[in-house]
Amino acid sequence: MSVASVARKRKPGTSQESGAAGSNGQPSKMMYYFGRTKTEGGGKQKQLLGGKGANLAEMTSIGLPVPPGFTITTEVCDLYYKSARKLPNGLMDEVARNVALLEKELGKKFGDNANPLLVSVRSGAAVSMPGMMNTILNLGLNDEAVVGLANATGQKRFAYDAYRRLINMYGDVVCGVDHELFELAFDKIKTKHKVKNDTDVPLEGMVQLCEEYKKVFQKHFGKPFPQDPLKQLELAIEAVFKSWMQARAVKYRQVENITGLLGTAVNVQSMVFGNMGDDSGTGVAFTRDPATGENKFYGEFLVNAQGEDVVAGIRTPLHVDEMPKWNKQVYKQLLEIKDKLEHHYRDVQDIEFTIERGTLFMLQTRNGKRTGAAAVKIACDMVEEKLIDEKTAVLRIPAGDLTQLLLPSFSPQAKIQAKKEGRLLTVGLPASPGAAVGKLAFTAAEAVERTLKGEKVLLVRKETNPEDIEGMHSAVGILTSTGGMTSHAAVVARGWGRCCVAGAGEISIDEKARKIKVAGKTFAHNDTLSIDGSTGEVMAGTAATQVPKLSGDFETVMIWADKYRTMKVRTNADTPADAKRAREFGAQGIGLCRTEHMFFEGERIKDMRAMILANTEKDRRAALKKLLPVQRKDFIGIFKAMNGLPVTIRLLDPPLHEFLPHDAKSQAEMAKELGVTAAEVRERVSQLHEMNPMLGHRGCRLAVTYPEILEMQVTAITEAVIACKEKKIDAQAEIMIPLVGTARELEMLGEQVRQTIANVQEKKKFKGKLDILVGTMIEVPRACVAADEIGALADFFSFGTNDLTQMTFGFSRDDINTFLPDYLEKEILPRDPFQSLDTGGVGQLVEMGVRKGRAAKANLKVGICGEHGGDPDSIQFCQKVGLDYVSCSPFRVPIARLAAAQAALKQGGADIGRKGE
Ligand code: PEP
Ligand code: MG
Repeated sequence: MSVASVARKRKPGTSQESGAAGSNGQPSKMMYYFGRTKTEGGGKQKQLLGGKGANLAEMTSIGLPVPPGFTITTEVCDLYYKSARKLPNGLMDEVARNVALLEKELGKKFGDNANPLLVSVRSGAAVSMPGMMNTILNLGLNDEAVVGLANATGQKRFAYDAYRRLINMYGDVVCGVDHELFELAFDKIKTKHKVKNDTDVPLEGMVQLCEEYKKVFQKHFGKPFPQDPLKQLELAIEAVFKSWMQARAVKYRQVENITGLLGTAVNVQSMVFGNMGDDSGTGVAFTRDPATGENKFYGEFLVNAQGEDVVAGIRTPLHVDEMPKWNKQVYKQLLEIKDKLEHHYRDVQDIEFTIERGTLFMLQTRNGKRTGAAAVKIACDMVEEKLIDEKTAVLRIPAGDLTQLLLPSFSPQAKIQAKKEGRLLTVGLPASPGAAVGKLAFTAAEAVERTLKGEKVLLVRKETNPEDIEGMHSAVGILTSTGGMTSHAAVVARGWGRCCVAGAGEISIDEKARKIKVAGKTFAHNDTLSIDGSTGEVMAGTAATQVPKLSGDFETVMIWADKYRTMKVRTNADTPADAKRAREFGAQGIGLCRTEHMFFEGERIKDMRAMILANTEKDRRAALKKLLPVQRKDFIGIFKAMNGLPVTIRLLDPPLHEFLPHDAKSQAEMAKELGVTAAEVRERVSQLHEMNPMLGHRGCRLAVTYPEILEMQVTAITEAVIACKEKKIDAQAEIMIPLVGTARELEMLGEQVRQTIANVQEKKKFKGKLDILVGTMIEVPRACVAADEIGALADFFSFGTNDLTQMTFGFSRDDINTFLPDYLEKEILPRDPFQSLDTGGVGQLVEMGVRKGRAAKANLKVGICGEHGGDPDSIQFCQKVGLDYVSCSPFRVPIARLAAAQAALKQGGADIGRKGE
């Protein structure tokens, strides 16, 4: 059973970190306080307190300035859903007790007209889901407390501004009153006071606005704005729980493969204000640069602003380097905290802070999301700085993120040319690396729709918000005109390795007209732009891309990975060029050479078709004779590229109809070329037609019917091996028979292969040793069940998990997309089983195949060559069941090397060395 499904089935109260369950299944401890009085939680309790809650507790306990508060556990959220969306009994009594503690610690009172306590209510799951759930700020304000806040701060306008923000946010998030309705009321007030900006509305206007907002609230919600702070709190807590299941949060979890969580925690924390004047401010920062990994404090802040203003990207913030000019003392303190946090967590931290009238407060810390390149650099630097050891470094880099280092970039020539031709339009922020070329889509929905139609689009937005998530995922790149490196678009794109240029302020976007204007030019939805996420450059037209070269830190990480992994990594390659590239990426041989791919090039398809059309064995042999030398040449090229490493060559696998044209025009052309009638071609095509070609005349079944095809291929392989050996090239051939389901198939065909090898050797009078192995693919469920009988006859097994998945589930690998989205959405399957091995089903067959095969032959070499061989989770499973190697496409070889090392380290019980996230 997968870890995820185990986790999902876990009952609240059963985890080690949870509070004990009461007799009614209700956790006895529903919330954890953090503050000077006491701190009940800690950084390790992410599952229970969510990432934010656990780290607030941890930061408090290491003495950082954190506004006190308490965290309601994820178990309470779980219980809320299990009890048909009802808050558990006694929850609000416990909340009231914790609020009382807060009041005592801060010397403030909820709803007080002298010095009121205000709190924020924020979501926070065990895995970070930026912006996907709800937040309510300034909670606790009412008609009396607003006076209290004005008195306590001496800032009347600020107090009413805070109140109107609460009514708006509370109305929108908790009570479903459309935000636009509040905006309309605000516009009226601005017109009345003849001002353009929110910030220019005078005190009198703010007081009026609060009255107007309360009217909007009552009109559209049907009840007045709640004046009782505890009631406000109750509804806000419930709203956060509800937001766990709102569409964008569900979608995000799906896209990010987040499963097995109990729900969200709720953090109730005393408010501090960054908008109390020019001595206040708010910001977000990374302890190192999250795009490049450079050890440089990297952050942004806004003076006189509230927290959400930075993340939302509405105002373009200042770089933290500018902070000393504004407040030297705070900057110094922030740098000290940065070092303390990195030493404590031994990882890069992504922090949020607020300065209230010159005093610094920490609001959040978590392990910072970073690009693949940054992950590699940070891991290497931290080993050098002795913050972590090599094993931790290897475990810390998400193997799949290496794709980003292997991503294309624009070729320097293409860039120079674009500049020369005046096509460099503007430079924005390099928010997420890579190179993307596409037409312009102006809304998320448009991006999704046009992508589905096969277009490559760039999503162009002023700023993105969590609602845009699907469109951002569909687009090849994201371009925004406002917002900084930590805006929503930047954070989300980096997490996915999607190319993104943010804050390109010179671009003006007209969403309605589907046009942008930049550098005096206009571009519409059908125009193409090229964006460079590593430099922020935006170019008109299509710029040529290139594949990257690997070096430096990447090489270091690969050396460490190779040191700790126990499985070998091979590649799936069919040409000498692919084989060469894969070897440069570190492949230790070829795990699958699909010979059919060799038959499509140039003249070869003609001979292949002649072979298929032949009516007699004699004619078939004549056509095969022409194919033999080209096959031999290809094999020699591959053996050369893989000199000294094993090369597994699979005999012909696909059904023969795949080599024939299916439309009348092409059939007529083919007939003319081969000197036969169109009717003859048509007839052969219809003879070869199958209802279920994937379950039809393919794989070893072809060799059973046409042994001469096997003979030709084995002859070509053997002759190639001999030719290489004579030139002192160490060709290590492994002949693989596909789609075997019974021992008898392998017995018969294996004998034919061995006999052909012997015949060639004799004919060529080759006296040396050929050492050609003969094995089989295991891709039919029956082969797993009968793996003992089959194993006794094979030199090796290679699991073809593409077909094995297809046949185990009965899901057509070519048609799954018609229903897979429903299966994922309804959580029938956690992931696409063709991408990540279904360990609970298909994986069990693999495990049985390995066990039975090795029982028959202890030294049986076993690998995997299905797509799963390049998927980190599947690789972990391969390690568990004891495979000798995984094989994947050339670009995934480095990913597989790292994933294999991680799997070996995890199997050996290595500790990832992180303290919470
Ligand atoms: C497989 O089935 O897993 C496999 C590698 O073969 P193919 O994808 O060519 O069917
Ligand atoms: Mg297959």
